[in-house]
Amino acid sequence: MNKFTPIQKINHLEDTDYRALLDAVGTTALVSVTDTKGTILYVNKKFIEVSQYTAEELIGENHRILKSGHQPDSMFVELWQAISSGGIWRGEIKNRAKDGSYYWVDTSIAPIFTEQGELHRYIAVRFLISDKKAFEAGIIEQNRNLDKTKKAMLNILEDIETEKERAERLAQDLKKFQLAAQYSTDQIVITDAEGVIVYANPILETLTGFSVEESLGKKAGSPELWGGCMDEDFYADLWRIVKTEKKSFTGKIENKRKDGERYWASANISPILDETGEVTFFVAIERDVTREQEIDQAKTEFVSLASHQLRTPLSTINWYAEILLDGSTGKLTKEQKEYVEQMYASNQRMVDLVNSLLDVSRIELGTFQVEPVPTDIIELAESVLKEQRLEADKRKLQLKTVFDPKLPKIDIDPRLLRMVFQNLLSNAIKYTPDGGSVTYEVRKDARKKQVVFRVADSGIGIPRRQQKRIFSKLFRADNARESETDGNGLGLYIVKSVVEHSGGAISFTSTEGKGTTFTVRIPLSGMVKKEGTKELGS
Ligand code: ADP
Repeated sequence: MNKFTPIQKINHLEDTDYRALLDAVGTTALVSVTDTKGTILYVNKKFIEVSQYTAEELIGENHRILKSGHQPDSMFVELWQAISSGGIWRGEIKNRAKDGSYYWVDTSIAPIFTEQGELHRYIAVRFLISDKKAFEAGIIEQNRNLDKTKKAMLNILEDIETEKERAERLAQDLKKFQLAAQYSTDQIVITDAEGVIVYANPILETLTGFSVEESLGKKAGSPELWGGCMDEDFYADLWRIVKTEKKSFTGKIENKRKDGERYWASANISPILDETGEVTFFVAIERDVTREQEIDQAKTEFVSLASHQLRTPLSTINWYAEILLDGSTGKLTKEQKEYVEQMYASNQRMVDLVNSLLDVSRIELGTFQVEPVPTDIIELAESVLKEQRLEADKRKLQLKTVFDPKLPKIDIDPRLLRMVFQNLLSNAIKYTPDGGSVTYEVRKDARKKQVVFRVADSGIGIPRRQQKRIFSKLFRADNARESETDGNGLGLYIVKSVVEHSGGAISFTSTEGKGTTFTVRIPLSGMVKKEGTKELGS
């Protein structure tokens, strides 16, 4: 026997009353009645409307038709336990309508008992709470979004903090750089890509006499400021290097101070490129080297003077040695002849050295003159070859020549070119062991519009690590010193100065132990005429 008292008994309601009651709540509530197994027996209008099924589709169907699968099975177990034991269950359930959409209902399910107190049916009353659920979901979503926003904000704050630290560090670095530039004893000038000054440090005033303020906005190194003392070619070259080739320029520049006094600056001008490789600005660092320059000049003048002075006694020794050797002053014994020959050879080396020193001092003291005249270059090459053939034969060297017979006459300074030929050929002979080969080539490179001189030997080569010093004054490579050859390390320095001063270019390739090739290129248009106070090689 069931402990519950049937509701009808207490309220004395008839069946028809129930139906009226169900219809009455039906405007707001979804009402359904099922048997004890959950088979639907009755649904009201609201139920039909919300579930989207027809009454026919629902009646006789199990209540599970509404299941959305959202709630866990354990909830339904609990529900059935409650109602089958006479209790009322209440809870929120997500149901599924016919079209697959969902709706939330606040559900109360109560058992109905027969008069005999037997469990007979269940009545379920549901109120739609989809709006409330959506609202709740909205709130949850909003909270989630808020959380995300909060996290994003925190990240931004963190980023700002890092950015701030970076900016502070940068500012500190910048401050350091500013201070370094401010107190630098070298003049530092920064210009835009057109050379207009955008920054200068205070030493500028000490060096040039112009104040920072009056220099800003003007072109660096223009005649309006401290420039204009070098020839136009020099400035054109400088701009080509830094602006077109985008390389650093290092060199000495003669400038003038505001009061007109000239001074020499050692300058380093570098282009600063952006990510696309375009010049954004230039940094020029300069230092007054007038004094060093004067000392250098004095040294060169001294060498020049000493060399000049040495030439006279050396010529005298030469002359007397020749007299002794030709026998006009009496026959020398074999031993005496040998000694005088040694004296003569050593003196000759001294003459060579003094002449080279004199050439170097001429190169360094000022511009030397280049006097181009139409010249048959093959003829010139052959005459140099003739001078050196004896030595080559003595050394059993195979001397090959590749001369272009159709080479036209070219405007060159024959004296200078002879020096170049002599030096390169004598080096090739000197640095090639007996029995080796030397190739001497003069030809036209029509495509590049140049005359090319090439001297290739199968000699000792130049050690790779010393190759970059090969054109330096007085430099001799280790293997050259060890080969017991005579030399003063001035020849290539003079050759390079001559070639470049007259508008040509010199280069070489070399492998130690295998051989060396020197190549000189001069434009077919000839050497560039240069006025000068000095003549080389005299
Ligand atoms: P040097 O009087 O010593 O020959 P140079 O100025 O003519 O002076 O040459 C400088 C140095 O370059 C030489 O001492 C030698 O080390 C190297 N050199 C020049 N030409 C050759 C060559 N053809 N083969 C190997 N080394 C060479």
